[in-house]
Amino acid sequence: MKRYSAFAVFREGLRYQAGWERAWRSPDPKPAYDVVIVGAGGHGLATAYYLGRNFGITNVAVLEKGWLGGGNTGRNTTIIRSNYLQDPSAAIYEKARSLYETMSQDLNMNVMFSPRGVMMLAQTEHEKRGYLRTAHANAYQGVKTEFITPDRVRKLCPIINIDGPRYPVLGALWQERGGTARHDAVAWAYARACSNMGIDIIQQCEVTAVRRENGRVRGVETSKGTIDCAKLALIVAGHSGVLAEMAGFRLPIESVALQALVSEPIKPCMDVVVMANTVHGYMSQSDKGEMVIGGGADGFNNYTQRGSFHHIEETVRALVETFPMISRLKMLRQWGGIVDMTGDRSPILSKTPLTGCYVNCGWGTGGFKSIPGSGWAMAELVANDAPGPLAAAFGLERFREGRFIDESVAAGVAH
Ligand SMILES: Cc1cc2nc3c(=O)[nH]c(=O)nc-3n(C[C@H](O)[C@H](O)[C@H](O)COP(=O)(O)OP(=O)(O)OC[C@H]3O[C@@H](n4cnc5c(N)ncnc54)[C@H](O)[C@@H]3O)c2cc1C
Repeated sequence: MKRYSAFAVFREGLRYQAGWERAWRSPDPKPAYDVVIVGAGGHGLATAYYLGRNFGITNVAVLEKGWLGGGNTGRNTTIIRSNYLQDPSAAIYEKARSLYETMSQDLNMNVMFSPRGVMMLAQTEHEKRGYLRTAHANAYQGVKTEFITPDRVRKLCPIINIDGPRYPVLGALWQERGGTARHDAVAWAYARACSNMGIDIIQQCEVTAVRRENGRVRGVETSKGTIDCAKLALIVAGHSGVLAEMAGFRLPIESVALQALVSEPIKPCMDVVVMANTVHGYMSQSDKGEMVIGGGADGFNNYTQRGSFHHIEETVRALVETFPMISRLKMLRQWGGIVDMTGDRSPILSKTPLTGCYVNCGWGTGGFKSIPGSGWAMAELVANDAPGPLAAAFGLERFREGRFIDESVAAGVAH
Protein backbone atom coordinates (compact mmCIF):
# COMPACT_ATOMS: atom_id res chain seq x y z
CA MET A 1 0.00 0.00 0.00
CA LYS A 2 1.34 3.46 -0.91
CA ARG A 3 2.50 5.65 1.95
CA TYR A 4 0.73 8.94 2.66
CA SER A 5 3.16 11.88 2.58
CA ALA A 6 3.37 15.55 1.63
CA PHE A 7 4.97 14.42 -1.62
CA ALA A 8 2.00 12.07 -2.34
CA VAL A 9 -0.47 14.94 -1.79
CA PHE A 10 1.54 17.11 -4.19
CA ARG A 11 1.83 14.33 -6.80
CA GLU A 12 -1.90 13.55 -6.68
CA GLY A 13 -2.68 17.26 -6.94
CA LEU A 14 -0.87 17.26 -10.28
CA ARG A 15 -2.83 14.27 -11.63
CA TYR A 16 -6.36 15.14 -10.58
CA GLN A 17 -6.31 12.91 -7.46
CA ALA A 18 -6.56 9.86 -9.72
CA GLY A 19 -3.86 7.75 -8.09
CA TRP A 20 -5.18 7.23 -4.56
CA GLU A 21 -5.82 3.60 -3.56
CA ARG A 22 -8.66 2.35 -1.37
CA ALA A 23 -7.52 2.69 2.24
CA TRP A 24 -8.45 -0.90 3.10
CA ARG A 25 -9.47 -4.04 1.20
CA SER A 26 -13.04 -5.34 1.28
CA PRO A 27 -12.56 -9.14 1.18
CA ASP A 28 -15.07 -12.00 1.41
CA PRO A 29 -14.60 -14.06 4.57
CA LYS A 30 -12.34 -17.14 4.40
CA PRO A 31 -13.72 -20.41 5.86
CA ALA A 32 -11.31 -20.27 8.84
CA TYR A 33 -8.97 -17.93 10.73
CA ASP A 34 -6.56 -18.24 13.65
CA VAL A 35 -8.35 -15.37 15.39
CA VAL A 36 -11.78 -13.85 14.79
CA ILE A 37 -12.52 -10.50 16.40
CA VAL A 38 -16.15 -9.42 16.62
CA GLY A 39 -16.55 -5.63 16.40
CA ALA A 40 -14.62 -3.22 14.17
CA GLY A 41 -14.63 -0.36 16.63
CA GLY A 42 -11.36 1.17 17.77
CA HIS A 43 -10.71 -1.57 20.34
CA GLY A 44 -11.33 -4.46 17.91
CA LEU A 45 -9.20 -2.88 15.17
CA ALA A 46 -6.38 -1.95 17.57
CA THR A 47 -6.37 -5.51 18.92
CA ALA A 48 -6.06 -6.87 15.38
CA TYR A 49 -3.27 -4.42 14.59
CA TYR A 50 -1.16 -5.27 17.66
CA LEU A 51 -1.74 -9.02 17.09
CA GLY A 52 -0.05 -8.52 13.74
CA ARG A 53 2.55 -5.97 14.77
CA ASN A 54 3.64 -7.38 18.14
CA PHE A 55 3.02 -11.11 17.63
CA GLY A 56 3.10 -11.69 13.86
CA ILE A 57 -0.46 -13.13 13.94
CA THR A 58 -2.15 -11.91 10.76
CA ASN A 59 -4.54 -14.75 9.89
CA VAL A 60 -7.18 -12.63 11.59
CA ALA A 61 -10.69 -11.45 10.63
CA VAL A 62 -12.46 -8.48 12.18
CA LEU A 63 -16.23 -8.91 11.71
CA GLU A 64 -18.46 -5.85 11.83
CA LYS A 65 -22.24 -5.87 11.54
CA GLY A 66 -22.39 -2.26 10.28
CA TRP A 67 -19.51 -0.14 9.05
CA LEU A 68 -16.15 0.10 10.78
CA GLY A 69 -16.02 2.83 13.39
CA GLY A 70 -19.82 3.18 13.24
CA GLY A 71 -20.34 2.25 16.90
CA ASN A 72 -19.19 4.31 19.86
CA THR A 73 -15.80 4.87 18.25
CA GLY A 74 -17.36 7.23 15.73
CA ARG A 75 -19.83 8.73 18.22
CA ASN A 76 -17.70 9.95 21.11
CA THR A 77 -16.44 13.37 22.10
CA THR A 78 -12.79 12.33 21.59
CA ILE A 79 -11.35 13.26 24.98
CA ILE A 80 -7.99 11.68 25.78
CA ARG A 81 -6.49 11.72 29.29
CA SER A 82 -4.89 9.31 31.75
CA ASN A 83 -5.51 11.00 35.13
CA TYR A 84 -7.15 7.98 36.78
CA LEU A 85 -6.80 7.13 40.46
CA GLN A 86 -5.98 3.42 40.66
CA ASP A 87 -2.60 2.05 39.55
CA PRO A 88 -3.88 -0.47 36.95
CA SER A 89 -6.07 2.21 35.33
CA ALA A 90 -3.32 4.84 35.25
CA ALA A 91 -0.99 2.26 33.66
CA ILE A 92 -3.29 1.26 30.78
CA TYR A 93 -4.64 4.76 30.10
CA GLU A 94 -1.15 6.30 30.19
CA LYS A 95 0.15 3.60 27.83
CA ALA A 96 -2.71 4.54 25.50
CA ARG A 97 -2.08 8.28 25.82
CA SER A 98 1.59 7.83 25.05
CA LEU A 99 0.74 5.73 21.95
CA TYR A 100 -1.56 8.54 20.79
CA GLU A 101 1.43 10.91 20.82
CA THR A 102 3.06 9.04 17.91
CA MET A 103 0.01 7.37 16.35
CA SER A 104 -0.05 9.52 13.20
CA GLN A 105 3.56 8.60 12.43
CA ASP A 106 3.25 4.95 13.53
CA LEU A 107 0.14 4.31 11.42
CA ASN A 108 1.00 6.76 8.61
CA MET A 109 -2.32 8.60 8.87
CA ASN A 110 -3.05 11.96 10.44
CA VAL A 111 -5.30 11.23 13.44
CA MET A 112 -5.16 14.90 14.46
CA PHE A 113 -3.97 14.20 17.99
CA SER A 114 -4.21 17.55 19.75
CA PRO A 115 -2.69 17.55 23.27
CA ARG A 116 -4.36 20.83 24.15
CA GLY A 117 -4.80 20.03 27.84
CA VAL A 118 -7.74 18.66 29.82
CA MET A 119 -9.07 20.18 33.03
CA MET A 120 -11.59 18.71 35.44
CA LEU A 121 -13.13 21.48 37.53
CA ALA A 122 -13.41 21.10 41.29
CA GLN A 123 -16.66 22.80 42.30
CA THR A 124 -17.20 21.39 45.79
CA GLU A 125 -14.79 20.82 48.69
CA HIS A 126 -15.41 17.11 48.33
CA GLU A 127 -14.46 17.17 44.66
CA LYS A 128 -11.37 19.26 45.42
CA ARG A 129 -10.16 16.68 47.96
CA GLY A 130 -10.81 13.91 45.43
CA TYR A 131 -8.78 15.61 42.70
CA LEU A 132 -5.93 16.47 45.09
CA ARG A 133 -5.79 12.80 45.96
CA THR A 134 -5.73 11.85 42.26
CA ALA A 135 -2.95 14.38 41.56
CA HIS A 136 -0.83 12.82 44.35
CA ALA A 137 -1.56 9.29 43.08
CA ASN A 138 -0.65 10.34 39.53
CA ALA A 139 2.69 11.72 40.78
CA TYR A 140 3.52 8.26 42.17
CA GLN A 141 2.32 6.57 38.98
CA GLY A 142 4.46 8.77 36.72
CA VAL A 143 1.42 10.41 35.11
CA LYS A 144 1.97 14.14 34.73
CA THR A 145 -0.99 16.01 36.24
CA GLU A 146 -1.33 18.87 38.72
CA PHE A 147 -4.01 20.56 40.81
CA ILE A 148 -4.29 24.17 39.64
CA THR A 149 -5.77 27.29 41.28
CA PRO A 150 -8.91 29.13 40.12
CA ASP A 151 -6.67 31.92 38.78
CA ARG A 152 -4.81 29.48 36.58
CA VAL A 153 -8.15 28.02 35.43
CA ARG A 154 -9.25 31.53 34.41
CA LYS A 155 -6.02 32.12 32.48
CA LEU A 156 -6.23 28.80 30.65
CA CYS A 157 -9.92 29.19 29.83
CA PRO A 158 -11.17 32.78 30.14
CA ILE A 159 -14.76 31.89 29.16
CA ILE A 160 -15.38 29.90 32.38
CA ASN A 161 -17.61 31.55 34.96
CA ILE A 162 -15.24 31.05 37.91
CA ASP A 163 -17.64 32.56 40.48
CA GLY A 164 -20.53 30.39 39.23
CA PRO A 165 -24.00 31.04 40.67
CA ARG A 166 -24.31 27.67 42.38
CA TYR A 167 -20.81 26.17 42.36
CA PRO A 168 -17.76 28.48 42.26
CA VAL A 169 -14.61 26.93 40.78
CA LEU A 170 -12.21 25.94 43.58
CA GLY A 171 -9.45 24.71 41.25
CA ALA A 172 -9.01 21.93 38.73
CA LEU A 173 -7.17 18.71 38.00
CA TRP A 174 -5.09 19.64 34.93
CA GLN A 175 -3.39 17.27 32.51
CA GLU A 176 -1.36 19.31 30.06
CA ARG A 177 -0.71 16.45 27.59
CA GLY A 178 -4.33 15.28 27.54
CA GLY A 179 -6.48 16.44 24.64
CA THR A 180 -8.42 15.13 21.66
CA ALA A 181 -7.96 13.22 18.39
CA ARG A 182 -10.18 12.72 15.36
CA HIS A 183 -12.16 9.58 16.26
CA ASP A 184 -12.98 8.35 12.73
CA ALA A 185 -9.35 8.80 11.70
CA VAL A 186 -8.23 6.56 14.58
CA ALA A 187 -10.51 3.75 13.33
CA TRP A 188 -9.48 4.35 9.70
CA ALA A 189 -5.78 4.43 10.56
CA TYR A 190 -5.93 1.09 12.38
CA ALA A 191 -8.11 -0.40 9.61
CA ARG A 192 -5.66 0.65 6.91
CA ALA A 193 -2.67 -0.65 8.85
CA CYS A 194 -4.47 -3.98 9.53
CA SER A 195 -5.48 -4.39 5.92
CA ASN A 196 -1.91 -3.67 4.89
CA MET A 197 -0.73 -6.58 7.05
CA GLY A 198 -3.23 -8.97 5.39
CA ILE A 199 -5.84 -8.88 8.16
CA ASP A 200 -9.40 -9.13 6.76
CA ILE A 201 -11.92 -6.52 7.86
CA ILE A 202 -15.38 -7.74 6.89
CA GLN A 203 -18.13 -5.15 7.16
CA GLN A 204 -21.89 -5.82 6.98
CA CYS A 205 -21.18 -9.18 8.61
CA GLU A 206 -23.24 -9.72 11.75
CA VAL A 207 -22.31 -12.50 14.15
CA THR A 208 -25.52 -14.36 14.99
CA ALA A 209 -24.22 -17.33 17.00
CA VAL A 210 -21.05 -18.62 18.64
CA ARG A 211 -20.20 -22.24 17.80
CA ARG A 212 -18.90 -24.32 20.73
CA GLU A 213 -17.67 -27.88 21.18
CA ASN A 214 -16.61 -29.52 24.48
CA GLY A 215 -16.31 -26.15 26.25
CA ARG A 216 -14.10 -24.72 23.47
CA VAL A 217 -14.87 -22.14 20.84
CA ARG A 218 -15.15 -23.53 17.28
CA GLY A 219 -16.23 -20.52 15.30
CA VAL A 220 -19.15 -18.22 14.57
CA GLU A 221 -22.29 -18.11 12.47
CA THR A 222 -22.61 -14.85 10.59
CA SER A 223 -24.86 -13.15 8.05
CA LYS A 224 -22.11 -14.07 5.53
CA GLY A 225 -21.91 -17.75 6.53
CA THR A 226 -20.00 -19.95 8.95
CA ILE A 227 -16.46 -19.00 9.94
CA ASP A 228 -14.19 -21.31 11.97
CA CYS A 229 -11.59 -19.96 14.35
CA ALA A 230 -9.18 -21.17 17.02
CA LYS A 231 -9.63 -18.03 19.10
CA LEU A 232 -12.49 -15.57 19.36
CA ALA A 233 -12.37 -12.05 20.83
CA LEU A 234 -15.67 -10.30 21.61
CA ILE A 235 -15.09 -6.52 21.46
CA VAL A 236 -18.55 -5.05 20.93
CA ALA A 237 -19.02 -2.41 23.68
CA GLY A 238 -22.79 -1.97 24.28
CA HIS A 239 -23.58 -5.36 22.70
CA SER A 240 -21.19 -7.30 24.95
CA GLY A 241 -24.06 -8.86 26.92
CA VAL A 242 -25.72 -10.04 23.69
CA LEU A 243 -22.53 -11.69 22.38
CA ALA A 244 -21.72 -13.21 25.81
CA GLU A 245 -25.17 -14.82 25.84
CA MET A 246 -24.41 -16.37 22.44
CA ALA A 247 -21.17 -17.74 23.92
CA GLY A 248 -22.98 -19.16 26.95
CA PHE A 249 -21.90 -16.91 29.82
CA ARG A 250 -23.03 -13.69 31.49
CA LEU A 251 -21.18 -10.42 31.99
CA PRO A 252 -21.55 -7.84 34.80
CA ILE A 253 -22.35 -5.14 32.24
CA GLU A 254 -25.25 -2.75 31.80
CA SER A 255 -25.92 -1.12 28.44
CA VAL A 256 -27.16 2.46 28.49
CA ALA A 257 -27.33 5.31 25.99
CA LEU A 258 -24.86 8.18 26.25
CA GLN A 259 -25.32 11.19 24.07
CA ALA A 260 -23.44 14.21 22.74
CA LEU A 261 -24.25 17.32 20.73
CA VAL A 262 -22.45 20.01 18.74
CA SER A 263 -23.28 23.66 18.23
CA GLU A 264 -23.03 25.80 15.14
CA PRO A 265 -19.38 26.74 14.48
CA ILE A 266 -18.06 29.91 16.10
CA LYS A 267 -14.70 31.68 16.18
CA PRO A 268 -11.98 30.05 18.34
CA CYS A 269 -12.78 30.79 21.98
CA MET A 270 -11.55 27.76 23.90
CA ASP A 271 -8.32 25.82 23.36
CA VAL A 272 -8.59 23.33 26.23
CA VAL A 273 -11.05 20.58 27.17
CA VAL A 274 -13.14 21.38 30.27
CA MET A 275 -15.22 18.98 32.35
CA ALA A 276 -17.57 20.23 35.03
CA ASN A 277 -18.58 17.04 36.75
CA THR A 278 -20.56 18.58 39.61
CA VAL A 279 -23.00 20.32 37.29
CA HIS A 280 -22.72 17.41 34.83
CA GLY A 281 -21.38 18.64 31.52
CA TYR A 282 -18.21 19.03 29.50
CA MET A 283 -17.15 20.96 26.43
CA SER A 284 -14.34 21.49 23.92
CA GLN A 285 -14.09 23.26 20.58
CA SER A 286 -13.53 21.29 17.40
CA ASP A 287 -11.15 22.40 14.66
CA LYS A 288 -14.23 23.43 12.64
CA GLY A 289 -15.30 25.76 15.46
CA GLU A 290 -18.26 23.73 16.75
CA MET A 291 -18.60 23.44 20.52
CA VAL A 292 -18.56 19.69 21.29
CA ILE A 293 -20.78 18.99 24.29
CA GLY A 294 -21.50 15.96 26.42
CA GLY A 295 -23.06 15.01 29.72
CA GLY A 296 -24.17 11.98 31.71
CA ALA A 297 -25.49 8.61 30.59
CA ASP A 298 -29.16 7.59 30.69
CA GLY A 299 -30.25 6.18 34.03
CA PHE A 300 -31.99 3.14 32.53
CA ASN A 301 -30.86 0.29 30.29
CA ASN A 302 -31.54 0.74 26.59
CA TYR A 303 -30.15 0.21 23.09
CA THR A 304 -31.47 3.33 21.38
CA GLN A 305 -28.25 5.06 20.13
CA ARG A 306 -30.16 8.31 20.75
CA GLY A 307 -30.42 9.22 24.40
CA SER A 308 -33.30 10.84 26.27
CA PHE A 309 -34.40 14.47 25.93
CA HIS A 310 -34.15 15.43 29.59
CA HIS A 311 -30.41 14.75 29.47
CA ILE A 312 -29.94 17.28 26.68
CA GLU A 313 -31.73 19.86 28.79
CA GLU A 314 -29.67 19.04 31.91
CA THR A 315 -26.39 19.11 30.01
CA VAL A 316 -27.09 22.40 28.28
CA ARG A 317 -28.26 23.97 31.55
CA ALA A 318 -25.03 22.84 33.26
CA LEU A 319 -22.88 24.28 30.52
CA VAL A 320 -24.70 27.61 30.30
CA GLU A 321 -24.01 27.95 34.03
CA THR A 322 -20.32 27.16 33.50
CA PHE A 323 -19.87 29.07 30.22
CA PRO A 324 -22.54 31.82 30.10
CA MET A 325 -21.30 33.03 26.68
CA ILE A 326 -22.75 29.94 24.97
CA SER A 327 -26.31 30.68 26.07
CA ARG A 328 -27.40 31.91 22.62
CA LEU A 329 -25.66 29.24 20.57
CA LYS A 330 -27.79 27.09 18.28
CA MET A 331 -27.26 23.35 18.50
CA LEU A 332 -26.65 21.61 15.16
CA ARG A 333 -26.64 17.89 15.81
CA GLN A 334 -27.28 15.39 18.59
CA TRP A 335 -26.58 11.66 18.63
CA GLY A 336 -26.02 8.77 21.03
CA GLY A 337 -24.13 5.53 21.49
CA ILE A 338 -24.68 2.47 23.68
CA VAL A 339 -22.06 2.32 26.38
CA ASP A 340 -21.11 -0.76 28.40
CA MET A 341 -20.94 0.04 32.11
CA THR A 342 -19.41 -2.08 34.86
CA GLY A 343 -20.16 -1.53 38.55
CA ASP A 344 -16.63 -0.30 39.34
CA ARG A 345 -16.44 1.80 36.14
CA SER A 346 -13.34 -0.13 35.02
CA PRO A 347 -13.00 -2.28 31.91
CA ILE A 348 -12.90 -6.04 31.49
CA LEU A 349 -10.04 -7.62 29.48
CA SER A 350 -10.35 -11.26 30.24
CA LYS A 351 -10.45 -14.93 29.42
CA THR A 352 -13.97 -16.32 29.74
CA PRO A 353 -15.59 -19.60 30.85
CA LEU A 354 -15.50 -20.67 27.16
CA THR A 355 -11.96 -21.80 26.29
CA GLY A 356 -10.46 -19.79 23.42
CA CYS A 357 -12.97 -16.96 23.86
CA TYR A 358 -11.83 -13.59 25.24
CA VAL A 359 -13.72 -10.44 26.07
CA ASN A 360 -12.78 -6.77 26.00
CA CYS A 361 -15.56 -4.47 27.20
CA GLY A 362 -16.76 -2.28 30.06
CA TRP A 363 -15.00 0.86 28.84
CA GLY A 364 -18.30 2.62 29.38
CA THR A 365 -18.27 6.36 28.83
CA GLY A 366 -14.49 6.63 28.51
CA GLY A 367 -12.97 4.08 26.15
CA PHE A 368 -11.93 6.21 23.20
CA LYS A 369 -8.86 7.42 25.02
CA SER A 370 -7.79 3.86 25.83
CA ILE A 371 -8.00 2.36 22.32
CA PRO A 372 -4.25 1.92 21.67
CA GLY A 373 -3.44 0.69 25.20
CA SER A 374 -6.42 -1.64 25.23
CA GLY A 375 -5.52 -3.07 21.80
CA TRP A 376 -1.94 -3.58 22.97
CA ALA A 377 -3.02 -5.40 26.15
CA MET A 378 -5.78 -7.42 24.46
CA ALA A 379 -3.44 -8.64 21.71
CA GLU A 380 -1.08 -9.88 24.43
CA LEU A 381 -3.94 -11.69 26.18
CA VAL A 382 -5.20 -13.38 23.00
CA ALA A 383 -1.74 -14.28 21.66
CA ASN A 384 -0.42 -15.74 24.94
CA ASP A 385 -3.72 -17.03 26.35
CA ALA A 386 -2.73 -15.11 29.49
CA PRO A 387 -2.93 -11.44 30.42
CA GLY A 388 0.22 -9.32 30.42
CA PRO A 389 0.94 -6.65 33.04
CA LEU A 390 -1.48 -4.10 31.53
CA ALA A 391 -4.52 -6.42 31.52
CA ALA A 392 -3.80 -8.55 34.59
CA ALA A 393 -6.00 -6.59 37.02
CA PHE A 394 -8.97 -6.35 34.66
CA GLY A 395 -10.03 -10.02 34.64
CA LEU A 396 -13.62 -11.14 35.16
CA GLU A 397 -12.64 -12.90 38.39
CA ARG A 398 -12.38 -9.55 40.18
CA PHE A 399 -16.17 -9.39 40.40
CA ARG A 400 -16.29 -12.78 42.10
CA GLU A 401 -13.40 -11.97 44.43
CA GLY A 402 -14.59 -8.44 45.31
CA ARG A 403 -11.32 -6.95 44.03
CA PHE A 404 -12.91 -3.92 42.35
CA ILE A 405 -10.93 -1.16 40.64
CA ASP A 406 -13.08 1.76 41.72
CA GLU A 407 -12.91 4.60 39.19
CA SER A 408 -16.27 6.18 39.94
CA VAL A 409 -14.63 9.60 40.44
CA ALA A 410 -12.54 9.46 37.27
CA ALA A 411 -15.37 8.09 35.12
CA GLY A 412 -19.10 8.95 35.06
CA VAL A 413 -19.61 12.27 33.32
CA ALA A 414 -15.83 12.66 33.07
CA HIS A 415 -15.09 10.95 29.79
C1 LIG B 1 -21.67 10.18 23.23
C2 LIG B 1 -20.40 9.50 23.66
C3 LIG B 1 -19.33 10.27 24.10
C4 LIG B 1 -18.14 9.64 24.49
N1 LIG B 1 -17.06 10.44 24.80
C5 LIG B 1 -15.87 9.86 25.06
C6 LIG B 1 -14.73 10.68 25.26
O1 LIG B 1 -14.79 11.91 25.15
N2 LIG B 1 -13.55 10.07 25.56
C7 LIG B 1 -13.46 8.71 25.66
O2 LIG B 1 -12.37 8.22 25.98
N3 LIG B 1 -14.53 7.90 25.44
C8 LIG B 1 -15.73 8.44 25.13
N4 LIG B 1 -16.82 7.65 24.89
C9 LIG B 1 -16.70 6.18 25.02
C10 LIG B 1 -16.06 5.55 23.79
O3 LIG B 1 -16.66 6.02 22.61
C11 LIG B 1 -16.17 4.01 23.84
O4 LIG B 1 -15.74 3.53 25.09
C12 LIG B 1 -15.32 3.36 22.75
O5 LIG B 1 -15.51 3.97 21.51
C13 LIG B 1 -15.66 1.89 22.65
O6 LIG B 1 -15.01 1.37 21.51
P1 LIG B 1 -15.27 -0.12 21.08
O7 LIG B 1 -14.36 -0.41 19.95
O8 LIG B 1 -15.18 -1.00 22.29
O9 LIG B 1 -16.80 -0.15 20.67
P2 LIG B 1 -17.57 0.36 19.36
O10 LIG B 1 -16.87 1.46 18.68
O11 LIG B 1 -19.00 0.57 19.75
O12 LIG B 1 -17.44 -0.90 18.41
C14 LIG B 1 -18.15 -2.09 18.63
C15 LIG B 1 -18.61 -2.59 17.28
O13 LIG B 1 -19.17 -3.88 17.43
C16 LIG B 1 -20.16 -4.02 16.43
N5 LIG B 1 -21.04 -5.13 16.75
C17 LIG B 1 -21.95 -5.22 17.75
N6 LIG B 1 -22.59 -6.40 17.70
C18 LIG B 1 -22.07 -7.09 16.64
C19 LIG B 1 -22.33 -8.36 16.06
N7 LIG B 1 -23.29 -9.19 16.55
N8 LIG B 1 -21.61 -8.74 14.96
C20 LIG B 1 -20.66 -7.92 14.45
N9 LIG B 1 -20.39 -6.70 14.95
C21 LIG B 1 -21.08 -6.29 16.04
C22 LIG B 1 -20.86 -2.66 16.43
O14 LIG B 1 -21.55 -2.43 15.22
C23 LIG B 1 -19.69 -1.71 16.66
O15 LIG B 1 -19.21 -1.15 15.46
C24 LIG B 1 -18.03 8.22 24.49
C25 LIG B 1 -19.11 7.45 24.07
C26 LIG B 1 -20.29 8.06 23.63
C27 LIG B 1 -21.44 7.22 23.16
